[in-house]
Amino acid sequence: MENTDRFVCAVDIGGTKIACAIMAFPATGERPHPVYEAEVATGASEGGEAVYARVEDAVCTALASFDGGEVLGVGVGSAGVVDPRTGCIAYANEIMPGWGGIALGPRLAEALGLPVAVTGDVHAHALGEARWGVGRGYDSELCLGIGTGIGGAFVVDGRVMRGSHGAAGHMGHIESTAATGIPCACGRSGHLESVASGTSIGRVFEERYGRVDPARPTVGRDVNDLVAAGDERAISVVREAGHALGASLGSLANVLDPAVIVLSGGVIHEGTGWRSETWRASVAEGYRSQALDPLQDTPILIGELEGEAPLIGAAENLLDTLK
Ligand SMILES: [Zn+2]
Repeated sequence: MENTDRFVCAVDIGGTKIACAIMAFPATGERPHPVYEAEVATGASEGGEAVYARVEDAVCTALASFDGGEVLGVGVGSAGVVDPRTGCIAYANEIMPGWGGIALGPRLAEALGLPVAVTGDVHAHALGEARWGVGRGYDSELCLGIGTGIGGAFVVDGRVMRGSHGAAGHMGHIESTAATGIPCACGRSGHLESVASGTSIGRVFEERYGRVDPARPTVGRDVNDLVAAGDERAISVVREAGHALGASLGSLANVLDPAVIVLSGGVIHEGTGWRSETWRASVAEGYRSQALDPLQDTPILIGELEGEAPLIGAAENLLDTLK
């Protein structure tokens, strides 16, 4: 019998690692899964051209290693802002110097002779959760990734709202009263990311109580560990961060009225503290303090696909362009 499974090469380009996979979309309609997976360090400090070379190399290696069927194209989710018209990187922050301006989509398509579709990594993540994760079955989804920073995306009727510059969903950079006067990584001040990200939880704890380990700066994971151990100081810091996040989610829900809110990101999955009832209850409380009456019961769920979400979403985005 002819094999009708479909195969897409999927790439997730982040500030620390590049993940590359061949994703199989089973003919049975089951959830797509990787049949080849590899990971390399991004080496972001070496500049945009060096990162591009690693991406192209990773894709060529994946395609050469796979002989299970025809690969329909390459779907990429990348850090930075991706121009939705060209597939080029329009902007990247200081975590990836020189990545902004790289003509990622056109260069890969030229080098590989295959269709290529590029989208933002957070947009890809949200699309993955919306189509195959906890967002499945809801007609709209507000998805937030909470890690070193905070990113997000709004998916409606299965499509990610990318915005006219590809920058829609920068939910870490909305004004939060809890962040008033605090400088943000984007160069402005008073933004949610400065009080609710994993990085900022570590910073806030250190400002109030000193370093957890005197030898190095305190990070979110340190605070997680203290929450898990019942440390009241850590619990209060996490509560405040959760409440600030929830209040912003309530404000966003008042604008977008999503059917479901999905929270995702490495920090949530790795840390018992973040994922604790303490944090989730504070998020829910903050949410209810701002959401309008009809929106009080909007479900707030934790993403389930983790690292596979951006790969599945990037592959789905490629398939969309082939329709
Ligand atoms: Zn900002």
